[in-house]
Amino acid sequence: MTTRQTTSPTTSRNLPARTGVLVVGAGEAGVRVAASLRELGYDRPILLLGEEPHRPYQRPPLSKTFLDGTADHDALALRTPEFYAEAAIDLRTGRMVTHVDLDGSGAGAAHCEDGDAVAFDHLVLATGARARTLPVAGADLTGVCTLRSLQDAEALRERLASAGRVVVLGAGYIGLEAAAVTSARGLDTTVVERADRLLSRVSAAPLSEFLLARHREWGVDFRLGTEVEAVVGDGGRARGVRLGGGQVVPADLVVVGVGAVPETALAEKLGLRVQRGIAVDAAGRTSHPMVFAAGDCTVRPHPHLPGELLGVESVQNANEQARAVAASIAGVTPPAPPVPWFWSDQRDLKLQIAGISGGHDRYVIRGHPGDGDVSVLYYRAGALIASESVNRPKDFMAVKRALGKGATIPPRAAADAATPLKDLILEPA
Ligand code: FAD
Ligand code: NAP
Repeated sequence: MTTRQTTSPTTSRNLPARTGVLVVGAGEAGVRVAASLRELGYDRPILLLGEEPHRPYQRPPLSKTFLDGTADHDALALRTPEFYAEAAIDLRTGRMVTHVDLDGSGAGAAHCEDGDAVAFDHLVLATGARARTLPVAGADLTGVCTLRSLQDAEALRERLASAGRVVVLGAGYIGLEAAAVTSARGLDTTVVERADRLLSRVSAAPLSEFLLARHREWGVDFRLGTEVEAVVGDGGRARGVRLGGGQVVPADLVVVGVGAVPETALAEKLGLRVQRGIAVDAAGRTSHPMVFAAGDCTVRPHPHLPGELLGVESVQNANEQARAVAASIAGVTPPAPPVPWFWSDQRDLKLQIAGISGGHDRYVIRGHPGDGDVSVLYYRAGALIASESVNRPKDFMAVKRALGKGATIPPRAAADAATPLKDLILEPA
């Protein structure tokens, strides 16, 4: 795939007057809805509208192999260009939907920024999320970069080539993956995080400590529990970051990784239930039972905390929700939701996560943190609910398998790193 392309072959044509399914958002979830509909035999027209100029691409490499230069544009494509033609999926890039009219049956019409419109029988919102912006003075200076889109990654990669000192704001996945890349390039790297530990939104303290120690070994400086007051600069360029206590950390590149905000503008205009993300059920139905949503734009019932909603921002979740949406539209029973899983690559560390740890009341540590591998297993009311493993792929696989069967692994036995977890799985009664 080439990103210099700013128009797809189809953008010059008008939209069709009517389509069967309209998918708004041509990311991981949108493409999967369209592909799954065809796999399920849906034979009416499918229109996929994406605001970005590029053909659909994968985001995970943007903060990993694309950023460090080991992968290039062609490696990012979600599907080949031929796929869309062969599956009769009408993909239009560079088309932003600004509003939608809906009738009671879920059919309606969508209007694009350029004035073009299309009528549809079914609407799927797969609008993803955008990077949270930094609410401080100087956030618009040259040299301050977010990382969500291919365009962001291209700009960041270019700036890395001439950067000397980097400050990364946020010690979530983006911040840590970016810091892993910049430290590997030998760049002076400081990470500023307002929470008192790394990955605080998703992980338990032992994993935070393990990752902190490894990043420090790589030379990364951390300022935890620290607010950012401003990005300071001169001549319109960033020169440093002023922290809560007034200290300025010099930087010619500032990478902002302070979270993602679900893109819910269309859903809000439609009056759909939005609570941070668009609320959906297991079948991908919004509060309008004939309007569907999938991926980072959604929140869905929390698996462990009744009454709470959870946003799961991952490739696997986008694909699973999209499969459920396609099944609902095609009139077949959605597949049972599989065990959620995620990953993160940071230099020689491969972090693999199975299940959702939120709501845990106990955790067990396993492995050899000093030797570079660790697993944390999470429990709720005595039952295994999730795990996070660094460089222990067998632990990850065993927990994923156990969770998939509704089985557990007794916590006391799990702490013994010498016994393979797969031998400790207790099948459900
Ligand atoms: P998106 O990929 O955000 O796609 C939504 C699309 O909809 C966007 O292209 C957007 O422009 C378009 N859109 C929005 N509004 C409109 C509109 N009104 N009209 C037309 N188009 C619209 N997950 C993992 O599991 N593992 C990883 O290692 C990992 N690494 C990541 C690294 C980075 C740098 C980032 C940013 C994310 C990473 N993720 C990772 C998260 C993962 O990429 C997302 O969960 C996934 O892309 C969600 O897919 P989506 O289709 O819901 O949203
Ligand atoms: P994130 O995981 O929410 O982490 C952002 C971190 O920045 C949080 O710890 C947050 O603390 C902190 N923060 C917020 N405001 C700050 C400020 N002003 N100064 C300093 N720290 C601040 O989000 P992310 O890392 O930006 O990632 C964005 C999205 O991409 C997420 O959906 C993520 O899942 C996805 N992603 C996933 C992967 C992966 O799965 N491997 C990789 C990259 C990106 P608070 O919690 O206190 O706000």
